[in-house]
Amino acid sequence: MDWKLLITGSVAYDSIETPLDKIERVPGGSAYYAAMAASFFSPPRMAGIVGTDFDDSDIERLKKRGINLDSLVRDASLPTFFWRGKYHDDFSSRETLEVQLNAFEHYSPALANSAENADVVLLGNISPKIQSTVLSETGGTPFVILDTMDLWINTANKPLRSLIKKADILLLNESEAKTLSGDRNIIAAGGHLLDMGAKSAIIKTGEYGAMLFHKDGFFTIPAFPVKDLRDPTGAGDSFAGALAGYITSKASYDFATIKRAMLAGAAAASLTVESFSCIKLEKSGMDEISRRANLIVKYSSI
Ligand code: AMP
Repeated sequence: MDWKLLITGSVAYDSIETPLDKIERVPGGSAYYAAMAASFFSPPRMAGIVGTDFDDSDIERLKKRGINLDSLVRDASLPTFFWRGKYHDDFSSRETLEVQLNAFEHYSPALANSAENADVVLLGNISPKIQSTVLSETGGTPFVILDTMDLWINTANKPLRSLIKKADILLLNESEAKTLSGDRNIIAAGGHLLDMGAKSAIIKTGEYGAMLFHKDGFFTIPAFPVKDLRDPTGAGDSFAGALAGYITSKASYDFATIKRAMLAGAAAASLTVESFSCIKLEKSGMDEISRRANLIVKYSSI
């Protein structure tokens, strides 16, 4: 039987400034990027909240990708989560200029029947409180992929550590892994994430790739070599979404499947960063994702 994927996280409007360009209020958020990327492998159910201002055309974009929105609710009075960020120095650092939780401030997830009993759950970046409520409502014993960010490592460390114990894959970027583990060395950090109770961990190293720490071994892939970097926002979320979508589509989460899923993640992320929001990813589709995944293998094989 086909496996079902549930994705939660933020659904947002983002205003972004890069060294090349700027844009106001494009759809984003961890669940938005992740669901779009996952949809090429296994159209997910999406749980989250949008506000009064979330445009019907942005809902249509999600529906067009086959994403089930039964558990995406609309707040009656508040606007959509809003994030404003700015990239400096040829994209080497990012600053958050504004965050408005808006509809997410009082969001208490209530899953529709269609989202229950998912086989794979991606807890995209949002507060650990929302992540654990969604997980507890899922029922059954799904395969859990947990993403987070420095904000929650610093402000919600205890609930985050409880969730890590339930994670089959913990996803972090390099600086988050070092902060959470207290290690300066990335390999030592990976080992410590498993000591915290995660069954496996993937540490993303941005333009350099990603590393998997798993009971059956260590694995690393390079990133797809992107020439036309436009906006790194959502790269990690797209990686997570494609990873989860691939695992769901194969109905398997053994070591070899997770390795291949990382290729899918890296390929999807490389498309996300070549435009604002998910524009390039939506346009390119599965053929280009596969082409890039094959090229990553070619470029890293002797
Ligand atoms: P990333 O580039 O992977 O860090 O993800 C960027 C996305 O995260 C943007 O689309 C934002 O809307 C969203 N975001 C920013 N801050 C938060 C937060 N505190 N919780 C959840 N999502 C956030």
